[in-house]
Amino acid sequence: MSYPIHLQPSSNSRLADYDFNQIKFGQNPTDHLFSAAYRDGSWQDATVAPFQEFLISPLALCLHYGQNVFEGMKAFRLIDDEINIFRPEKHLKRLNRSLERMCMPEIPQELFIAALEQLIGIDHGWVSEIPGNSLYLRPLVFASEARLGVHEAAEYRFMIMAMPIANYYNGSVRVKVETSYTRAAEGGAGFAKQGGNYGPALLPTRLARQQGFDQVLWTDAKTHTFIEESGTMNVMFVIDDRLITPPLTDTILDGVNRDAVLMLAREQGIPVEERAIAYSELEAAFQQNKEVEAFGIGTAAVFTPIREIDILGKSYFPVNGEETLGKRLSTELNDIRSGRSSDRFGWNHIVQVREKTEIAST
Ligand SMILES: *Cc1c(COP(=O)(O)O)cnc(C)c1O
Repeated sequence: MSYPIHLQPSSNSRLADYDFNQIKFGQNPTDHLFSAAYRDGSWQDATVAPFQEFLISPLALCLHYGQNVFEGMKAFRLIDDEINIFRPEKHLKRLNRSLERMCMPEIPQELFIAALEQLIGIDHGWVSEIPGNSLYLRPLVFASEARLGVHEAAEYRFMIMAMPIANYYNGSVRVKVETSYTRAAEGGAGFAKQGGNYGPALLPTRLARQQGFDQVLWTDAKTHTFIEESGTMNVMFVIDDRLITPPLTDTILDGVNRDAVLMLAREQGIPVEERAIAYSELEAAFQQNKEVEAFGIGTAAVFTPIREIDILGKSYFPVNGEETLGKRLSTELNDIRSGRSSDRFGWNHIVQVREKTEIAST
């Protein structure tokens, strides 16, 4: 099936006034928004139109019972000036897994890719060529049916918004191993990128911040002994030259960057262990004065070194710097998606841009 996308170009671009050296993430969308409606069992009314507010009924189900699912992905300016969307098929797979868990309709691949291509095609000027900058893409699906009562909605909206994002490489974080609050339990929906996973994380994070930490390092719901993830990042450790990361279960987000880093490590012959890792194992390694690396990996910040881990009130300090394995692998990942090294895994999806004259004639 094909999905015609109606293009309604903005006559009022904000691009000329936007300062790419002062990016404040999350507040300044590009000129356009993609949107489609699900009704009578199918996606329709696909449009790329000027970004603007929209009306929603107070009875809309997403406002009450949490049927909302999202993605976070990026488009990059390649060194030859083309534009690349990083692994859109992989993101779509996860989006559809999240949607399935929340009883929401799947997004067909043709629609997802066409929507991204059209939106980025028209807003291509927003993909900054400043190294490290990129265009953040936020697909969002929510229940729009206006009919109170806990039930599967019959109507949904699918939107994609885009906004510039800066290079955050230099931020390292202090984390606290969380042993009382829980992010996700077995059998729940922790693996889904659904709104309900994030609200309950705010209070434990606020409490950790009050103690001087940036984030909590979640542990499993049952025993609070095994490390899961942190904020919106998957976590990895290097102990005895082995790259160790918790395995994918239904309580952990299946990160696209996690997957990419593991593929790069395996390509280089680095031993990779996807297995449960208890905080006591980290504690033991630190106590034996081993060099331990710890870092978070995810779309928003890409690579975030962890400079301090608090385990039950005791501080431990992972090694940091340019020579660490985590730093090297994340540089390699950035080199691929900016076109500085070969795209040997087929991760880069090149977008055709639309020039003003073409837009005018559609
Ligand atoms: C999005 C997200 C991640 C990272 O996934 P990426 O696909 O690499 O961006 C990790 N954990 C949580 C909870 C997330 O929401």
